Amino acid sequence: MSTAIVVGAGPNGLAAAVTLAQAGVTVTVLEAADEIGGGTRSGEVILPGLCHDHCSAFHPVAAGSPFILAAGLTRYGLEWRWPEIDCAHPLDDGTAATLYRGIDRTAAGLGNDGGRWRLLFGRPAEGFDELAADITGPLLRLPRHPIQLARFGIPAALPGSVLARLFTTKAARALFGGVAAHMFRPLHLPFSAAVGMGIITAGHRHGWPVAAGGSRAITDAMAALLQELGGIIETGVPVLRFADLPTADVTLFDLAPSAVADILIGRQPSRLEQAYRRFRHAPGTFKVDFAVQGGVPWRAREARRAGTVHLGGCFAEIAATERIVSAGRMPDRPFVLVGQQYLADPARSTHDVHPVWTYAHVPAGYEGDATPLIMAQIERFAPGFRERVIGLAVRSTTEMSRYNRNYVGGDIIGGRKDVRQLVLGPGAGWHPYETGVRGMYLCSASTPPGPGAHGMCGFHAAQAALRQLVVPSALWG
Ligand SMILES: Cc1cc2nc3c(=O)[nH]c(=O)nc-3n(C[C@H](O)[C@H](O)[C@H](O)COP(=O)(O)OP(=O)(O)OC[C@H]3O[C@@H](n4cnc5c(N)ncnc54)[C@H](O)[C@@H]3O)c2cc1C
Repeated sequence: MSTAIVVGAGPNGLAAAVTLAQAGVTVTVLEAADEIGGGTRSGEVILPGLCHDHCSAFHPVAAGSPFILAAGLTRYGLEWRWPEIDCAHPLDDGTAATLYRGIDRTAAGLGNDGGRWRLLFGRPAEGFDELAADITGPLLRLPRHPIQLARFGIPAALPGSVLARLFTTKAARALFGGVAAHMFRPLHLPFSAAVGMGIITAGHRHGWPVAAGGSRAITDAMAALLQELGGIIETGVPVLRFADLPTADVTLFDLAPSAVADILIGRQPSRLEQAYRRFRHAPGTFKVDFAVQGGVPWRAREARRAGTVHLGGCFAEIAATERIVSAGRMPDRPFVLVGQQYLADPARSTHDVHPVWTYAHVPAGYEGDATPLIMAQIERFAPGFRERVIGLAVRSTTEMSRYNRNYVGGDIIGGRKDVRQLVLGPGAGWHPYETGVRGMYLCSASTPPGPGAHGMCGFHAAQAALRQLVVPSALWG
């Protein structure tokens, strides 16, 4: 029977392990931390009984992930819960633009821009299940649904600032800009509309749900399935050098490319080793979790019912802020994401005290304390917020990379998503999961289709490994 080692028990590592185990491979997962889950861990941080997501929070892409759906993770305890409003984007005049799972409801709230919103996202959202086959895998391959892909891909290839000009109202432009900013890229660059297109389209099909009990439920379900298939998970086992790796037919790394280059030192073709070492990271995040008595007193009533709230003002302000951060400087008013998961999953709160999840986009490796700036951004749209805070927990960029070695400089999206890295990952060829060392594969969010707790990078890397297991070694090299 073939054997596999998977290094890292994040969603991609576990998805790879499940895929291999389903094919009859004997799998062992080695995880550095004492707990599995990587970017999906959750638990108490500030007060007993208050459940915070340490990293990922909302899952429009995971909810429609072909891997998660096919694995039937709901049978292993994964349950999605939806807030009434997926996302609100408050403006300084006290109003807020709102994103709902239903595109008609969203369009109705966008006045003159409703029709344009429907035009841009309606058809891709209707065909999202087919589209997912093309956009949740390696991007360099023959599309299965070329027409659906073109409807999605042509606008996605544009700069976010060009796509935003399709809209005439401040509200629609800001709503789109807040979602597009998830890419951590200046919005005037080509392809900077891609993540906005992807998350909005996925959201109009699947909503922006949270996992009941915390995002850890996603990887707990994967681990339960893996164990049922006979796979083994060992925690507290960092793999830092080649000698740490047990022998196996295939090895998959749920790691940052530079960490893989360190482990495989001298074994990769030098062109690939250099590419892994030169892999460029995205700006950082500075995370603050709050315990808030009575919830955030948003001026815009819609924000009180929204799972996600984007704080960055109008499109032009968001674009300027993202440009400053990408240039390595800290803006006075950073783009801040606020998560109110408890609105969809009330068991995360205790009585009237609620866990509020926030992070700001900051320069890579930012060493300052962004807590006052995050609080000022919330206060800007929710006067009186400060008085309601009864506790907080901070994770700076440095603490972020200590918490998980994959978050280099606080980069939580597995590397800068410029066109090259988005399409090819750290390598430069048609095989983004191959490290250049026989039997060794990269399966983390640094490979296509990129970040999120959807497991699709792991699934595709495992498929590449399985192809190798059935191809006689004589055909290699
Ligand atoms: C603050 C924050 C907010 C986010 N919000 C969202 C969101 O709302 N929605 C969403 O979909 N995604 C979100 N993400 C991104 C998402 O969490 C990641 O894209 C996803 O977790 C990537 O999965 P992965 O398996 O590739 O890597 P990871 O989840 O990073 O897992 C890698 C695993 O490898 C382990 N590891 C690292 N080095 C070693 C080593 N040397 N030896 C052994 N083990 C090692 C790590 O401990 C970790 O468990 C967020 C991330 C963060 C940090």
